Amino acid sequence: MKVLKFGGTSVGSIDSLRNVNNIVTGQSEPVIVVVSALGGVTNQLIDMTAMAQDGSGDYETVLAQVDQRHRDVIAGVVPQAMQEQCRAIVAQFIENLHSFYGTLALNRDLPEVERHRLADAIVCHGEVMSSAIVACMIDGAVPHFSPNFIKTREQAGNHVLDDELTSRLIIDEWPNPVTGVHVAQGFIADDADEHFKTNLGRGGSDFTAALIAAALRADCLEIWTDVDGFYDKDPRKHDDARLLPQMTYTQAQQLCDAGAKVIYPPTLRPVAELGIPVWVKNTFNPTAPGTRIG
Ligand code: ADP
Ligand code: ASP
Ligand code: MG
Repeated sequence: MKVLKFGGTSVGSIDSLRNVNNIVTGQSEPVIVVVSALGGVTNQLIDMTAMAQDGSGDYETVLAQVDQRHRDVIAGVVPQAMQEQCRAIVAQFIENLHSFYGTLALNRDLPEVERHRLADAIVCHGEVMSSAIVACMIDGAVPHFSPNFIKTREQAGNHVLDDELTSRLIIDEWPNPVTGVHVAQGFIADDADEHFKTNLGRGGSDFTAALIAAALRADCLEIWTDVDGFYDKDPRKHDDARLLPQMTYTQAQQLCDAGAKVIYPPTLRPVAELGIPVWVKNTFNPTAPGTRIG
């Protein structure tokens, strides 16, 4: 069994989602697919929160764009027979967002804790909508809801992963042996004590995928992104960046800690501890060999 994580650009357009579908359905073993929000949507959700808190109705325009983008993608990638159901699911989430932003706009003196919780509930919606689309797109895929098994606890005002509980709940969610194709949200989580929505931090979908791969002792973790693999420096900023065909966990961790955005820094620890190999692959160039971290 493999865990495949697709980032925001990979699930961000009709063409890229078709590549995702081909990559997933081309696998010869069971897979758990972990997805980010459509590229740019998390930023839009956060920007709209700020607008609503400032009492600006401009969030309505942005929300209408987010709504339309998801509808366009559904029309482009979801099989006809599933489209109505998929549109209804996403429409419900857009409705929730309307109501959350309305609450923020109308209650500008909400206590800080409540405002933070609303903002966290809002930011989950990117992954909830993208995963609904991916699950409807892939024939026979089983949808999962990551806050049921990715659990955080409050520590000094931060959401900190409860490693042990999370690992146990992932094993309960996927009893052995895993078969078929499964889809879950990256990034989003749930407070283990009070059950409000939380998250693993910006870029955290990589970490969700690693936690699942580690708990289930997956054969490998594949991080599907928008570059051919892990380079010695950011290939978008440096023309002379060199692709690294293989790296040790330590080498990769050092580059992540130094800011290589391609893998979210907490990701490698859970898989490195178990020696699970990590591949960095390009959704837009799937036959490129990528980078193996092990
Ligand atoms: P995703 O949405 O798939 O999670 P990210 O934007 O988080 O993608 O990470 C991929 C980006 O990381 C690449 O587009 C690239 O610009 C950037 N990046 C920074 N440093 C590196 C590096 N050393 N190797 C590869 N990519 C890097
Ligand atoms: N969607 C979240 C973000 O933009 C998580 C992720 O993409 O990994 O940070
Ligand atoms: Mg990322």
